[in-house]
Amino acid sequence: MDLPRAVGWAKGHRNVLVVAAIIFVFAGADLLINRPKGEGIQWFSAPLLGAGFGLLALIFWPTAKPGPMPRGDTLAHRLIRWATWRGRLVPLLPLLGLAIVVGDLAFNALLSAVPALLTHDLVALLFGAALLVYPFVPARYGRERDFVLLFVGVLALILVLPLLLVRLLLGDLRTSVDLYSAYALAPQTSALLSLLGVRNSIVFLPPETAPGIAFTTAGGLDVIVFITSACSGIYSFAIFASAFAAYVLTEQRTLTRRVFAFFALGILLAYAANILRMAVIVLIGYGFDTPQTGVQGMLVAHSNAGWIIFLAWVGLFWLLLFRFLPREEGTPQIGEATQTPQRGVFCGICGVVLTVAIPATRCPCGKFYHVECLAAEESCPNCHAPPSPHPATDRSAS
Ligand SMILES: [Zn+2]
Ligand SMILES: [Zn+2]
Repeated sequence: MDLPRAVGWAKGHRNVLVVAAIIFVFAGADLLINRPKGEGIQWFSAPLLGAGFGLLALIFWPTAKPGPMPRGDTLAHRLIRWATWRGRLVPLLPLLGLAIVVGDLAFNALLSAVPALLTHDLVALLFGAALLVYPFVPARYGRERDFVLLFVGVLALILVLPLLLVRLLLGDLRTSVDLYSAYALAPQTSALLSLLGVRNSIVFLPPETAPGIAFTTAGGLDVIVFITSACSGIYSFAIFASAFAAYVLTEQRTLTRRVFAFFALGILLAYAANILRMAVIVLIGYGFDTPQTGVQGMLVAHSNAGWIIFLAWVGLFWLLLFRFLPREEGTPQIGEATQTPQRGVFCGICGVVLTVAIPATRCPCGKFYHVECLAAEESCPNCHAPPSPHPATDRSAS
């Protein structure tokens, strides 16, 4: 596939690819930032980052002709319009973004027990930045703009807001993600392990704020695994849930029961996958049990298996999603030409691959175009025929 084809293909599937790219970039960055103890794992981060940025480059690579405008009336669009009082508050978004950025930096400098910028601050800063630039993004990238705003918005909603509320309610500024691990992760993982025949107990050993799972390996070694915030999986879970929410919102135009069921299922299964991930880590420690290699193996598994299981899970889920999520039907106006050409046919004007999402038409000469591209061009670049006024006949001919 040469570059224009690759770009056309990527632009045709850009909503899906943006999600994949974001997850790759986050996985790569996470491996780089929270560098695990296992040797060599950082080599995974380079291909992940490369794949993520490569996809983003393809999606935003300029083409000769701009191609069809993205559909405006998505759930995301309506949600943002509603939240901004029919768009009247949009000019104020940069101010809000600035307030969040300054507020977070001030909180860190003045109040926080840990002045270093942590993951939560990063999310708050990203959200602030997304608000700052929102009104300045051209309408052509409206979908991407909505996607990014919703993605970081939901991420902040999951990661930052609950923590902020708990800190305010308890008056304890040091409360951390460990609270989530203690209530939503450790008991469930412990129960699953018991079910699998590994006797274990949950322990809290004060200075350590994270809960631990204590068990005896098959070889008789007593081990405690602490579920620290970095390995709790909450970050990968939150990234997945936010990307998924933003995708559904920017892709669908009506919240049907099926879309909602898919959404709920996706979040639930991501949570289940996280518990499974923790259990697998303990099981690896339990099984490979010579005193030296056992714990070592578990530590390596801790960091490596986490992302590998998570990425495998995400891949599988997306595959299922595209089989079963209702395709957004093109809603052709009456009399408008809509033809679904075979796979891998590119618009002869903008070079973007044709998909069922965007109405396409076939010129009598046999070339396929987006309806919108052909209308903008006013005549077929191949045979110079004007757009067919009675395209219904096209359909019967095909
Ligand atoms: Zn086109
Ligand atoms: Zn033609």
